[in-house]
Amino acid sequence: MKLVLASSNHGKLEELRGLLADTGIELVAQSDLGVEDAEETGATFVENALIKARHASLQTGLPALADDSGICVDALDGAPGLYSARYAGEHGNAERNIDKLLEALDDVDGERRGAHFYCVLVLLRHADDPQPLIVEGEWRGEILRERRGNGGHGYDPVFFDPQRGQSAAEMPLEDKNRISHRGKALAGLKQRLLETW
Ligand code: IMP
Repeated sequence: MKLVLASSNHGKLEELRGLLADTGIELVAQSDLGVEDAEETGATFVENALIKARHASLQTGLPALADDSGICVDALDGAPGLYSARYAGEHGNAERNIDKLLEALDDVDGERRGAHFYCVLVLLRHADDPQPLIVEGEWRGEILRERRGNGGHGYDPVFFDPQRGQSAAEMPLEDKNRISHRGKALAGLKQRLLETW
């Protein structure tokens, strides 16, 4: 069975292909089928993932998988949230995004620096599917006062996991993938696919 991934990110494609390797599902990137990125006009992560999946399914006639993720900070009422990638204005500028976050939390003391990463995956069997398969993953932690570690991407250097005593950027990738929001959502997806597909 063929499934279109509503993303042009080849890192995500390879990660998902690995996960689905033994399921008989063949994953194709929408960019390889000539589909452009959809405009993310939703007000929540799940709405944006649905918009992306529906767009990819409509354009290709295939079942479609989409994801959306970000970081939500308690003291900022969930911001940057949907806008995590472009928090400081320019899409994907992790250094500036982190600087802005540290500045926004400058007056916030240790007890109130809680945050979580969130990831949602949505699978539509067809563009009009009334019952999409939806799985979520969360990873609780705290925002550090300064960067720690050289690995990872995005907000990893300032996201601290108190249970492990490490920032996400200090963890080997395998460890991060086991406990992260994305890792949990992917594990949930695989389980649901095996149960229902
Ligand atoms: P997207 O869902 O791939 O567009 O990711 C949204 C944004 O959330 C990214 O650009 C990052 O800023 C942030 N983000 C999501 N997951 C992670 C993570 O595991 N580490 C660090 N930042 C993340």
